[in-house]
Amino acid sequence: MPKRKIIKINENKCTGCAECIPNCQEGALQIIDGKARLVNDLFCDGLGACIGYCPEGAITIEEIEEKGD
Ligand code: SF4
Repeated sequence: MPKRKIIKINENKCTGCAECIPNCQEGALQIIDGKARLVNDLFCDGLGACIGYCPEGAITIEEIEEKGD
């Protein structure tokens, strides 16, 4: 299975400050119920541009197995 990188948000650390949102070039992040969420992981390019903007260190990169065929 091919792997790719996407970001992961630690809900326990996320304060919902939204600092990360405009720093996602792909528009893949939104605040939902007071926490940052990856609304469409297909949009996430895994480069982690948002990571440096999170004051809580709530965003990390993880490797997932590519879905589908
Ligand atoms: S910058 Fe960090 S703490 Fe703020 S909303 Fe994004 S993930 Fe949550």
